[in-house]
Amino acid sequence: MEKKQFQAESKRLLDMMIHSIYSQKEVFLRELISNASDAIDKIYYKALTDDSLSFNQDDYYIKVEADKEKRLLKIIDTGIGMTKEDLENNLGVIAKSGSLAFKAENEIKDGHDIIGQFGVGFYAAFMVADVVTVISKALGSDEAYKWESEGAEGYTIEPTTKNEVGTEIILKIKENTEEESYEDYLEEYRLKSIIKKYSDFIRYPIKMEVTKSRKKEGNEDEYENYVEEETINSMVPLWRKNKTELTTEDYENFYNEKRYGFDKPLKHIHISVDGTIRYNSILYIPENIPFDYYSKEYEKGLELYSNGVLIMNKCADLLPDYFSFVKGMVDSEDLSLNISREMLQHDRQLKLIAKNINKKIKSELQNLLKNEREKYETFYSSFGRQLKFGVYSDFGMNKETLQDLLMFYSSNEKKLVTLDEYISRMPEEQKYIYYATGESIERIEKLPQTELVADKGYEILYFTEDIDEFAIKMLMSYKEKEFKSVSSGDLGIEENEKDTDVKDDETKDLFAEMKTILADKVKDVRVSKRLKSHPVCLTADGEVTIEMEKILNAMPD
Ligand code: ADP
Ligand code: MG
Repeated sequence: MEKKQFQAESKRLLDMMIHSIYSQKEVFLRELISNASDAIDKIYYKALTDDSLSFNQDDYYIKVEADKEKRLLKIIDTGIGMTKEDLENNLGVIAKSGSLAFKAENEIKDGHDIIGQFGVGFYAAFMVADVVTVISKALGSDEAYKWESEGAEGYTIEPTTKNEVGTEIILKIKENTEEESYEDYLEEYRLKSIIKKYSDFIRYPIKMEVTKSRKKEGNEDEYENYVEEETINSMVPLWRKNKTELTTEDYENFYNEKRYGFDKPLKHIHISVDGTIRYNSILYIPENIPFDYYSKEYEKGLELYSNGVLIMNKCADLLPDYFSFVKGMVDSEDLSLNISREMLQHDRQLKLIAKNINKKIKSELQNLLKNEREKYETFYSSFGRQLKFGVYSDFGMNKETLQDLLMFYSSNEKKLVTLDEYISRMPEEQKYIYYATGESIERIEKLPQTELVADKGYEILYFTEDIDEFAIKMLMSYKEKEFKSVSSGDLGIEENEKDTDVKDDETKDLFAEMKTILADKVKDVRVSKRLKSHPVCLTADGEVTIEMEKILNAMPD
């Protein structure tokens, strides 16, 4: 039987490639810079095994040049370059990755620095350019070649001249349309911000000429513009640096640079894991609540990098909802990306990282609670509500993780206390963890229901937020001590002799009358054993306390 080759309509394939892989056009620059970085990496790897080659870091760079008048954008590198065959094979064949082949040929096992693997990134250039020209001279060759294409129609290759080894990609930027201002890709500020966003941690300098302003010599009042070449990227990512070399200020600068928030972070967490899964991460607990935090607009998530290149701005899967206030980034070499490099093929690695991060955040919060109480209280006043929601939601699945992080105002201590602290102060005969619910501390203090418990000297936790009691109902108990509302029927406290003096026949008629009048408001009228100075109080019988009932009634149906 004859075996036939699949035919691909390469024009259509290229069209698909250009228009449907990427969600944003600006990533074309990320792709071209990644290729330039790979090309330099290849010289670096070759030099490791070839004695005739030396690798002097200073000789290698990437340069971005814009010419607004001619509408040209150039990406120049001093990398390994391409021969005529390379140009044909790697740029003429869609989905052929010279970089992937390079890793295999050179048996680079730890070649995780080389970014390319799918052989499609280059074509992203056609999202913003009508014509793409590549001028390249390969390492060890005397000849240079020019590859040129207008996209779907094919390409041409011809000899040309070029002094240095390396590659120059020249984009003829498209004319503006109503939807898109392609001209923007020639603007200094736009290019700078795209480079910063996606390629800040490329290990080689990305240089660009930038316009600056200075005071005129001799005339201090006048300013003049001048042009200077600048390295745009930071190159060594903070997270790859040694923790011991970094100061709190370094972390704070990074927080501001990255616009994670406009406040100062309360705490930073720097994680480097080198186990079954390898990743680096820098996380922050903000001091202030982001203005949109408790709104629908707020999006949780961490920045996700694959090997120093930004993949996702807000990877939501890395954070559980109850830690949604955490800001920061994760960089891993072990992610399997999909072809657009915008998503992951498998989420197994991501799940592992998320689990790991979750544990770490919890333990760091516990440390904060233990060692920097004041800071923890600041944190808790901002995000405690979120933790309580966390306890309540998902059917209490996360209560183990969160219960030790909760705090409530204590009647005796007159400040926030943890459940553990409450338990540790409980007298032996005390059966329950008591709480009282109300609008404010002042209001709760005046509640007649608290009297009996307070009289015993027992501590009462004050629930002033509507989520409090719901969260506690989900917990049910803490260290085997059940929670008990001070307004519940049975408080589990020994009856007080004096208070039961009231005789039945003295009250029978009065209570009967009261019950008739309050018929649709109360179930029963009884002599109370818990009042001291107040004449009357309300109690609830069932699962739902009076306060919860109020909240439930206020909710829309
Ligand atoms: P990938 O980077 O995933 O391999 P690309 O479409 O981005 O796919 O690039 C295809 C191939 O073209 C690369 O693998 C590389 O061999 C070659 N290439 C692209 N740009 C350059 C460059 N600036 N210098 C040297 N080779 C390059
Ligand atoms: Mg590439």
